[in-house]
Amino acid sequence: MDLYEYQGRALFAKHGLPVLGGGVAETPEEARAIAEELGGRVVIKAQVKVGGRGKAGGVKLAEGADEATSHATNILGMDIKGHTVHKVMVTTTADIAEEYYFSYLLDRANRTFLCIASVAGGMEIETVAHDAPEKVAKVAIDAAKGVDEALARAIVEQAQFPADVADQVVSIAVKLWQAFIAEDATLVEVNPLAKTTDGTVLCLDAKVTLDENAGFRHADHEELEDKAAADPLEQAAKAKNLNYVKLDGNVGIIGNGAGLVMSTLDVVAYAGEGLGSKPANFLDIGGGASAQVMANGLEIVLGDPDVKSVFVNVFGGITACDAVANGIVQALQLLKDRGEAVAKPLVVRLDGNNAEEGRRILDDAANPLIERVDTMDGAARRAAELAASGV
Ligand code: GDP
Ligand code: MN
Repeated sequence: MDLYEYQGRALFAKHGLPVLGGGVAETPEEARAIAEELGGRVVIKAQVKVGGRGKAGGVKLAEGADEATSHATNILGMDIKGHTVHKVMVTTTADIAEEYYFSYLLDRANRTFLCIASVAGGMEIETVAHDAPEKVAKVAIDAAKGVDEALARAIVEQAQFPADVADQVVSIAVKLWQAFIAEDATLVEVNPLAKTTDGTVLCLDAKVTLDENAGFRHADHEELEDKAAADPLEQAAKAKNLNYVKLDGNVGIIGNGAGLVMSTLDVVAYAGEGLGSKPANFLDIGGGASAQVMANGLEIVLGDPDVKSVFVNVFGGITACDAVANGIVQALQLLKDRGEAVAKPLVVRLDGNNAEEGRRILDDAANPLIERVDTMDGAARRAAELAASGV
């Protein structure tokens, strides 16, 4: 989960990192109130989850509350790389002497954590790495050891931070690492990490990505979620504890086990080529799915207006196919009882443990909406055809 800058800044402050005071506003009037309270020069910053806001005109300095209000008026509603600005942050402004770059991130390719630090900040680090690679220090961090003061000092030296800011950057590097670990982040990026004209080093931008898989350890992270921007189906699925991802096709997909569902997406995409059919979602109902879970899954998938057919692809394991078949039949009944009778065709492929019995149960149910196809390719083709015929 990516955070807005104002959320990242609050998280930085919580961990003792130097940030400037301010607030977040959704209207020009609110921006004015914050600017008046802060007094003096302020900076108005568009809150969108994308970089390059400065270049796009989403970061403006204001001499006082009047100018802050007019900047907020201009920036609110602005489109930055396809993101509409609904909030602006108003903070005290710093007089910048130098701009640096500092980040920690999860380096998936090398299976380690990585620190990237540079004295050439303020611009995109990719650009610096391309144009002046010698100005970018990259240091792998041993997860078991972390970043202590000695390592922080080594990083600061390798990145050639000026001597007059070295101690401050060392302290920031240690605290930023603590924030990174304590919050289960996969990225904490400060760009610019700025030296002001009075020699103080401040975090003037905060880009933070939190690991949602660690969300259970952080009750306070839930409120950071941008519910308004979330897909309503994904939100409904989350509320039901389902592993669901909305995609842009027309064939609803339900399977048990993430690997099977992933390959189902591939097979359906392949079968749908030329027909204009594509998977509409990823949904893994897991190994021990009950009728209730199947009903919840069907409800979510069928609730997607883009879905024209559903492919239920189950490999019986711990939960055998007969239990799954009963689950499907009961799920359709459950939905009917809830007043959400299913009208879209379901293609069901059952294989694995007790497949024969499961197939018999589906046949006996004789539900005209259920088509049983016993191979994965065949079922994918049928589901793609049904979706294309736009029932
Ligand atoms: P980004 O472009 O989306 O990364 O947004 P930033 O928060 O990094 O802001 C872009 C640029 O605006 C920075 O590199 C700074 O040069 C400038 N900037 C941001 N905050 C301040 C501030 O408080 N004072 C001054 N003078 N400039 C700022
Ligand atoms: Mn920045």
